[in-house]
Amino acid sequence: MLPENFELLLNGLKELNIKNCDSAAEVLSEYADILEETNQKFNLLGNVTQRDIVVKHILDSLSGAQYICGMKNVLDIGTGAGFPGVPLAVCCPEIHFTLADATEKKVNFIKETAQKLNIKGITAIAGRAEELAHGKMREKYDACVSRAVASLNKLSEYCIPFVKCGGILLAYKGPLVFDEVNDADFAINALGAKTEAIRQVNVPYLDAERNFVIIRKVKVTPALYPRKNALIKNKPLSK
Ligand code: SAH
Repeated sequence: MLPENFELLLNGLKELNIKNCDSAAEVLSEYADILEETNQKFNLLGNVTQRDIVVKHILDSLSGAQYICGMKNVLDIGTGAGFPGVPLAVCCPEIHFTLADATEKKVNFIKETAQKLNIKGITAIAGRAEELAHGKMREKYDACVSRAVASLNKLSEYCIPFVKCGGILLAYKGPLVFDEVNDADFAINALGAKTEAIRQVNVPYLDAERNFVIIRKVKVTPALYPRKNALIKNKPLSK
């Protein structure tokens, strides 16, 4: 990685109050190198610069670390090339992370990369959220995190079934967060949860509005959810 981007990464980690910044920056810069190299072979991230990988992907992912601090097990739904799950696993080694994605190729990339970088706290699993949520992963996680997967009404149906009662869905969102929360209100309630907070965060060096929605699970999700994907997509839960 170019020295100026490593500097950005390290300073960003410090600004986000990440512990053991120096060793985390080493691992994350190797991860960025692997991503850049793999992106040339098969398209993981689209057209990105090294600086984009550091700021838009790694630091953006880590801006959510503050909300899962102290938890034991966290699920990342639709992790893609490993966001936010991989940076979170590097910087929160006390938490076990399960990273799930519908695309097997991406999951294999994460398995290989976690092994190469010797990141211990990652299990990667291939599967669709709406199918996995009816199996043994249901209601097992302290938190489910998710970034850039679906609008909040659909995302809630994918993710809330995995969360334990008392746990949270932590959704990474952009500037349209209030509209999304309004549209998802019915779904969130039907799934046994409540919107607890919307928090705007400052991602170091990123010139864009970033928000988190914290959705707290208050009761068991009815067994019929999540429905089949065609229904989730075409008839999102609403009044
Ligand atoms: N979270 C990553 C990737 C976002 S792209 C990031 O922020 O960079 C969306 C990813 O979600 C894709 O990799 C896609 O395969 C996955 N995905 C979409 N719907 C899914 C579902 N129902 N279950 C599991 N993965 C899903």
